[in-house]
Amino acid sequence: MPDAIGWQIATVEQVRIETPRVKSFKLTVEGFNRFRPGQHVDVRLTAPDGYQAQRSYSIASAPITPQTPGMTGSLEITVEVIEDGEVSPYFHDVVQEADQVELRGPIGGPFTWSVKQGGPLLLVGGGSGVVPLMSMLRHRSACDRDSVSAALLYSSRTLDDVIYKDELEQASAKDDLFDLSLTLTRERSAEWSGLARRVDAPMLDEVIKQLGEPALSYVCGSNGFVETVASLLVDRGLPPESIHTERFGPSGS
Ligand SMILES: Cc1cc2nc3c(=O)[nH]c(=O)nc-3n(C[C@H](O)[C@H](O)[C@H](O)COP(=O)(O)OP(=O)(O)OC[C@H]3O[C@@H](n4cnc5c(N)ncnc54)[C@H](O)[C@@H]3O)c2cc1C
Repeated sequence: MPDAIGWQIATVEQVRIETPRVKSFKLTVEGFNRFRPGQHVDVRLTAPDGYQAQRSYSIASAPITPQTPGMTGSLEITVEVIEDGEVSPYFHDVVQEADQVELRGPIGGPFTWSVKQGGPLLLVGGGSGVVPLMSMLRHRSACDRDSVSAALLYSSRTLDDVIYKDELEQASAKDDLFDLSLTLTRERSAEWSGLARRVDAPMLDEVIKQLGEPALSYVCGSNGFVETVASLLVDRGLPPESIHTERFGPSGS
């Protein structure tokens, strides 16, 4: 099996448009079998003049399990374009099926969850911060969802920016133990009558009331989002060691 942290060649098998600013990339990488939901990979691009840029991207797909065999050597990442960025616009505008990129991983320890750890499981994501949380939810529904209650509180700018919208809504409709709460901070259309503000204390109180006190919480998004939500969870009396955080970068607000 290839070195888990050495660079490997990944081939883009499929590109899927998720939202106007976000695409998912299914990658095949020889021997890439074992990862835990919440882990990420590093991706490295090399320009013709030898200049290299590397960035981290969370794994969006679920790992293989005895219940879901057959997906060895593949993973999915989901990339939001940052207009003045180096790597994400390349993914958004240039990368196509059959292209190759360099990748290493899986990477990351504390920000991981598997069904064996149980619940109740509280997931709070801002923008593309939903990506590693989606891996956890996909893993949960592939394995043993009957035994783990879970809630996702997901903050997006507008309805069009909600990544994995159909999949999340379908999961929440058919799974009594999964509760989805969306809040949209910049949606102005009459189509939206739900939560329409940044994540705050009353919102978390309501989600926790429905879920029951979370045994484990995972918070992912921009630096500012994660700081705010994690301290609100501590204020709600959750043990700090039960709160796991992953920061993707600056607040884009
Ligand atoms: C562990 C980890 C996992 C990550 N997973 C994902 C993922 O699943 N999907 C995803 O889209 N991104 C993810 N990121 C963020 C990603 O690594 C890059 O930072 C992001 O794609 C921007 O890279 P860039 O080269 O396009 O921009 P850069 O050239 O690095 O930056 C350009 C400008 O954008 C600002 N900027 C950089 N990152 C962000 C950001 N995240 N939000 C707002 N502004 C930013 C910079 O300050 C700078 O002003 C993850 C980051 C980490 C650390």
